[in-house]
Amino acid sequence: MMLDRRALLLGLLSCPICASLARAAEGPHWSFEGADGPAHWGDLDPGFKACAVGSEQSPIDLKGAIKADFGRAALDWKPQAYAVVNNGHTIQANAKPGSFARVGGETYALQQFHFHAPSEHAIDGVRTAMEVHFVHSRAGGQLAVIGAFMKAGAANAAFATVMKAAPRHVGEQTLERPIDPHQLIPAKSAIYRYEGSLTTPPCAEVVDWNVFERPVEVAASAITAFRAIYPMNARPLQPLNRRFVLIGR
Ligand SMILES: [Zn+2]
Repeated sequence: MMLDRRALLLGLLSCPICASLARAAEGPHWSFEGADGPAHWGDLDPGFKACAVGSEQSPIDLKGAIKADFGRAALDWKPQAYAVVNNGHTIQANAKPGSFARVGGETYALQQFHFHAPSEHAIDGVRTAMEVHFVHSRAGGQLAVIGAFMKAGAANAAFATVMKAAPRHVGEQTLERPIDPHQLIPAKSAIYRYEGSLTTPPCAEVVDWNVFERPVEVAASAITAFRAIYPMNARPLQPLNRRFVLIGR
């Protein structure tokens, strides 16, 4: 998942950890390969240390999940004409206030959603073509991210609309019409849940992860359009260490 400065700054007043995240977001350049790639993120800035030494990092392989009867995330997302941003790391749709997710008894506000290619999480070692992350925050700085795998298949109107507007270079383009973000998650699916981190610097371990088991289908041409801008923007899989992955309905 990724956070941009705007989303972070919105949360600063009620969110002490977001202040440090915002400073980190202004920090050194990082990328997905080479000298400033994932293997080196922890060395690029003192604020990125968790990327190297954290023990609850994301993404992970969602294998060996334990069946659990946790309350399913309740989503209250409003259709919006999102501002679609190319932020140099991904294509991201910034949300206006008014959309929420209720996860683990807490209410989180939707800040943005964005995409990775290939998927960041894996199931039994297998990644899919892409993954979408819906990033929510609450006072105190805790985040809840709802993730969904994406694979080539039937066209998806919401994703097609986002990719049609997506700037090829760093920039912003507001959609002409609202889209319904629920189109980007599967209608019926079990969901994995675990405690992890941002998958990009500063890799802060503040994320309640919720990832649907079943993928959503999007047109192969839309995946190609994303990959023409970002051919590879997924962090390598991280060790589970002493964590549990739960799966529920
Ligand atoms: Zn992400």
